[in-house]
Amino acid sequence: MERKPLVAANWKMNKTVPESVDFVQEFLQFLAVPPGVEVILAPPFTSLAPVGKALRGSPVGLAAQNMHWEEAGAYTGEISPIQLRDLGCRYVLLGHSERRNYFAEGDGEISQKVSAALREGLIPILCVGETLGEKDYGKTLEVIERQIGSGTQDADLEDGTEMVLAYEPVWAIGTGKTAKPEEAQEVHRFMRGMVASLFGGDVSGGMRIIYGGSVSPENTAEIMEMDDVDGVLVGGASLVPEIFARIVKSAAKNPLDTAADQGG
Ligand code: PEP
Repeated sequence: MERKPLVAANWKMNKTVPESVDFVQEFLQFLAVPPGVEVILAPPFTSLAPVGKALRGSPVGLAAQNMHWEEAGAYTGEISPIQLRDLGCRYVLLGHSERRNYFAEGDGEISQKVSAALREGLIPILCVGETLGEKDYGKTLEVIERQIGSGTQDADLEDGTEMVLAYEPVWAIGTGKTAKPEEAQEVHRFMRGMVASLFGGDVSGGMRIIYGGSVSPENTAEIMEMDDVDGVLVGGASLVPEIFARIVKSAAKNPLDTAADQGG
């Protein structure tokens, strides 16, 4: 089944409004999106509106880094899915390991967020991944199984429901260490199998599973060569327009087919 490669930038808690807008202006000048590839930016909440405005008319979409599960109410400091939609967001990152680790987000809370996003018409990007200790103890697949199982426990996924899974080994985030492409492929294949057993082959065949963890212009193409890798989630390397544009350029699923289509 054809799955559109997704390249997502996670800026985390970086960039003021002027810096964000400058980024977009520069990035759009460098940007050459390979056919069929989808690109999204997840700036901090404070930059969502100006970045959304600066991206208007471009092929780049908008994503948020987190949200609350309620539509509205007495939740000081929180942002609802409706507010994100209002700003033009199409995607939302959920369950990022930094949220799990620094803000004690638990599987139950993440599952509420996933179902709220689906209900409110946002595409959740559910992040899962093991720590170095868990990897060393051979617990990777067990951790992934728990995080996907509980993250989707209230989700009503059927053929055509848009949702993305991101495999982000915690030991690879911001460390310069990347999972070997074959290592990532093994986990992605396991994740797809798990989705198939929970929601059926049609859902799993259409679900994009992207990889995150020290992705760079140098390693994108080899990761994208893996059968079950449908895109990349990029932190540090997404903060510099020229570098992120190089990642986008390397993210075609079958670069040789693409070159042939274009007569190259
Ligand atoms: C991330 O935090 O989502 C991430 C992948 O970060 P980095 O690319 O910096 O490892």
